[in-house]
Amino acid sequence: MTEKKQIGIARALSYYNYFPYLYGFFNHLGIEIILSSPTTKKTLSDGSALVVTETCLPIKVYVGHIVELVNKGVKNIFVPSIQSVAHKIYNCSKIRGLPDLIRNVVKGDFKIIEATLDKSEKNQGLYEFLRQTVEPFGIKDFELIRAASKAGFVVQNNFRVMMQQGLSFDEALKYAKEGKVVINRKNNDEAQGAIHVALVAHGYNIYDKKASMDIFKKLSQMGVVVHNANQLTDEQLLGGLSCLNTELYWANQLEVTGCAGHYLKSDLIDGIITVTAFGCGPDSLMVEDIKRKSKNFQKPLLHLTIDEHTGEAGFVTRLEAFCDMLFRNKRAKITRYMDTGIDVNEKTVANIEGIVSLKK
Ligand code: SF4
Repeated sequence: MTEKKQIGIARALSYYNYFPYLYGFFNHLGIEIILSSPTTKKTLSDGSALVVTETCLPIKVYVGHIVELVNKGVKNIFVPSIQSVAHKIYNCSKIRGLPDLIRNVVKGDFKIIEATLDKSEKNQGLYEFLRQTVEPFGIKDFELIRAASKAGFVVQNNFRVMMQQGLSFDEALKYAKEGKVVINRKNNDEAQGAIHVALVAHGYNIYDKKASMDIFKKLSQMGVVVHNANQLTDEQLLGGLSCLNTELYWANQLEVTGCAGHYLKSDLIDGIITVTAFGCGPDSLMVEDIKRKSKNFQKPLLHLTIDEHTGEAGFVTRLEAFCDMLFRNKRAKITRYMDTGIDVNEKTVANIEGIVSLKK
């Protein structure tokens, strides 16, 4: 173990769900975090070169980030094995086997800081997971670990509150790390936009700007207000799941099926966009389920798959075509409402008129 306590963390996969917690936890213990840089073309090619072609994009991205940390000379790299996050609620086999994968494909002078979280097994809960994580740093004091975990939850909860209020991932993370909770009223005003779309995907498929081709920015430039799982409470996500009559099995099913179920029944949402990685088994099952059941809600749904070969032009064309259709649907709906004397928000009408005339 090096004298300076440092831990490398990949800016990939669970980074987009749990990094605020890890930030608070390691900071409290005086362990410096070395984070890999945002994903680039090189990250993708480095990761893709080390795994079989059929591997999903998020895993290739993850491997690429580990390679970057190793090349930077980081000696201790955190690669957890998150088996199950609640009783009988499992992650996919690739996430569960991450330490084995990294051990076998990434060569170099580094040590894997490996810990297992398996809430379906006895004695593999959060504190055992944290104990395994910090043991290589010589930290054994249970009270200290507990206090660090509490500090992690404070950062995570602040982050969550800001995400629910509509802040961007980057803004919410920045403020949460600074120990602040900032509620941006401007975001609530922007929610008055013309078209509202629910973006249904795992965090790593939409917040990684390279992998997702910065889908948030692209939709915003098209005049679309984007909603996603991070704006919902656990109760709303669970309600979405039961609305689609689906049993919970996968660890990240709430952010996909739960999110889709919630927004399918929402009058505010004009359409649903699902984004999944090519070759993802759990997502293909979840999206099939969503597609089948979404017919009852009569909401347009666009399904996009991403991999390292996805062309940006084709991706944007599909987004534009879908949003064009939503704009026209909405304009027709508003016209019908106005004809029947139903009061329609003036700002919405103005937005729709403006955008549709621009597109003519
Ligand atoms: S859930 Fe799907 S996309 Fe995510 S790591 Fe597993 S196989 Fe890959």
